[in-house]
Amino acid sequence: MYIVMIASECAPVSKVGGLADVVDGLSRELSNKGHKVEVILPYYDCMKHPAVKDLQGNSVQVSVPCNGKEILSTVHRAAAHDNECFFIKPQSPERYFDRGVYYGKGDDDERFTVFSLSAIEFLLATGRRPDIIHCHDWQTAVIPVLLKNKYKHSALSETKTCYTIHNIWHQGKTTEKILKMVGIEPSAAAVKDNMTDDSDRAYINLMKGGIAYSDVVTTVSPKYAEETMTNQMGEGMQATLSKYSGKYTGIINGVDYDSWSPASDRHIPFNYDADTIEDKYKNKEYLRKKLSMKQDFKPIVSVVGRLDMQKGVHLIRHSLLYALNNGMQFILLGSSPDTEIDLYFHHLKSYLKDNHDCHICLGHDEELAHLIYAGADMILIPSLFEPCGLTQMIAMRYGTVPVVRSTGGLSDTVFDAEVSAKPAAERNGFSFDDFSYDAVSLALKRASMVWHEKPYTFREIMLTGMKTDYSWMASADKYISLYNKVSGKW
Ligand code: ADP
Repeated sequence: MYIVMIASECAPVSKVGGLADVVDGLSRELSNKGHKVEVILPYYDCMKHPAVKDLQGNSVQVSVPCNGKEILSTVHRAAAHDNECFFIKPQSPERYFDRGVYYGKGDDDERFTVFSLSAIEFLLATGRRPDIIHCHDWQTAVIPVLLKNKYKHSALSETKTCYTIHNIWHQGKTTEKILKMVGIEPSAAAVKDNMTDDSDRAYINLMKGGIAYSDVVTTVSPKYAEETMTNQMGEGMQATLSKYSGKYTGIINGVDYDSWSPASDRHIPFNYDADTIEDKYKNKEYLRKKLSMKQDFKPIVSVVGRLDMQKGVHLIRHSLLYALNNGMQFILLGSSPDTEIDLYFHHLKSYLKDNHDCHICLGHDEELAHLIYAGADMILIPSLFEPCGLTQMIAMRYGTVPVVRSTGGLSDTVFDAEVSAKPAAERNGFSFDDFSYDAVSLALKRASMVWHEKPYTFREIMLTGMKTDYSWMASADKYISLYNKVSGKW
């Protein structure tokens, strides 16, 4: 099968969050399984150029009809992390992707719409006829809209579209101007119906259009698919998703085990696997030494992640103090663009500077993240919502037991050691339901008690996580089945 991924991010070249990991990991796994995969990305000035091979080598110019005139987009062909990529640079005075950042400019709607339109024109101009175009999040949601409207009689009319929602909070709410820009009449009855924002009818919603016009819609875990169809968590998209529930499904993301495996990880001093799990404790000792923490008979609870509302930042603050007061050590590695949150943790860090049961690292540190996964006993993820979540799956690979709030992908991947409908052999962590101090404290207390009083049971929980396969293998197969179903070819 011939699949073209069109997205605003792809690791390691242009990564802001989980979207980048999915585009990279899924594309590589599909190629490994023998499919032809090409990835189309914006040519950002700030992307990681060393991660791209031969970027300047091969390029074509494509003429793109936009806003009643023609603009030229240059498309560079290059390889990134084994993916065959095309980087699009529109040559317009706006210099859409020369902004020094990936997102956050007032004209993001225009930037990514011009990118999406250029991607379609590139496919047409170069005679590419993929079986599937796979689009991601609001940034490329206009592609299915264009293919089913303006381009419905083009050479891409047979191509099917798959649209993946990575986070329902960002929907691409914009004005009719964006549709007019790409040659779609917003007042046409069907377009109006399919794209008017349900919460504010003065706006156009790009994600809603992507859902309505795609042949199949996915999100990144089965539980999140359910949650996004509810009034509580649908963020205004619940009616649309419920209407299209027949073509909407959740597929859990995979972990890239080339980067995340304790047996081969070059960032950790002592490699280990399920058979040599004792060596995990050498990493624990090393981690404590590196962070000037006390060597003591205590479990280390860790947090690795963005410090924001989604991640349950106030529960993280509470848990840190709860852990220290209840016989546990705590390591926090996190960053926050929110100055108030950042300041709070800086104050907490200086308040706790003499406490050798605790270490707070504020910022992004890839190497330390690997070491924490290897050296900690538990990872805490008390998210308000979590479309999929990677850290729990990475941690489990390293024998680090997740303590999570049961929501979205966390609920699909973490099964409580003591209270779960799953058989004992599948129980791999600790979970709680309420988004409250009491609930997270109780979960930490239970995990700590098992660690102290039932070390054999704790070891079994660790091993269950280590042995479970969260690689892209199975998830890529699920995407292939969907592609097959919609293309009707295989
Ligand atoms: P998100 O919602 O941010 O996409 P995920 O759990 O899906 O959360 O993925 C987070 C990824 O980013 C993981 O690979 C995690 O190791 C990494 N990460 C998060 N914060 C940091 C940090 N401060 N330093 C290093 N790596 C981090």
